[in-house]
Amino acid sequence: MNSLQYPIRIEELTKEYNKIKALKGISFKVKKGEIFGFLGPNGAGKSTALNILIGILKPTSGMSYLFEDNSMDLSKKTRQRLGVVFEENNLYKRLSGRENLQFFARLYNTNNNKVENLLDLFDLSTAGDRLVKNYSKGMKQRLLIARALLNEPQLLILDEPTSGLDPQSVEVIHKSIEDFAAQGKTVLISTHFMEEADRLCDKIAFINKGQIVTITPPAELKSRYGAQIVEVVIKEKNLKIDNMDNIVPERFIREKDGKIVVEIPINELKMGKIIDNLKKDFEILSIHTKEASLHQVFLKLTKQ
Ligand code: ADP
Repeated sequence: MNSLQYPIRIEELTKEYNKIKALKGISFKVKKGEIFGFLGPNGAGKSTALNILIGILKPTSGMSYLFEDNSMDLSKKTRQRLGVVFEENNLYKRLSGRENLQFFARLYNTNNNKVENLLDLFDLSTAGDRLVKNYSKGMKQRLLIARALLNEPQLLILDEPTSGLDPQSVEVIHKSIEDFAAQGKTVLISTHFMEEADRLCDKIAFINKGQIVTITPPAELKSRYGAQIVEVVIKEKNLKIDNMDNIVPERFIREKDGKIVVEIPINELKMGKIIDNLKKDFEILSIHTKEASLHQVFLKLTKQ
């Protein structure tokens, strides 16, 4: 298999920490130019897999490759093609943001224009001369990604890059990932945010309890695991779910913004009868069809 066509290849990877089976044999490969998402709840095994991939953790069994190298033995060439953004924050806090980038620019023999371009791209030009110890979490994370891009990598690996960040930082980071991939470069991103995976990823590997449940494009994930729904919003106020469960099965009823909403999967056989009953007993504010959300899918897949 061409290692340039598939910069990431993982085969039957397992990892046990004492008695805990963090990875139970996962396999996947990431194609050049793809944004590949690793989506799953906390504790699913995402960080473990990424740490093995970049060679800082030894697997119990299985193989993992970056470009043509085994992860446990990465060459200088492969390291130069790689940008890594992991949660631990190893910036120089007593230096300014600009100085942090300049320091690494010297290491990589990158010119200073690149530093200024990156500060600009990550909306840090104005704050560039402030000490990093005074940066917000979002600013530090933006700087960390800017630093990972300094040596112009071909492959970017990010572990939960937007966890706990402000919306502006999230937007800047998402845009930078999209721009990076638009240049034909490859991204592997782990996240527990469905919306993030939905927006960014060409393909999602859904991981739960150390296993990959499915690998598909987001749209397919939604159509395969989540049905379209018909949403009926009831006008009456102060209605209680208990008042309704003789009319509609309780699993379809929920409260949304203080209103009672009935959500019926489009493939529900009794759909017509349920809507007739609702119309008979209540005043209806709206009825419309909604696309399945990744949220629904997430709940369904983690329950399995
Ligand atoms: P995620 O990144 O999806 O949140 P992790 O890879 O961090 O998941 O964790 C997977 C499982 O392995 C969890 O049950 C976690 O508690 C366990 N785990 C992770 N790191 C260690 C470690 N160093 N020692 C023992 N157990 C660990």
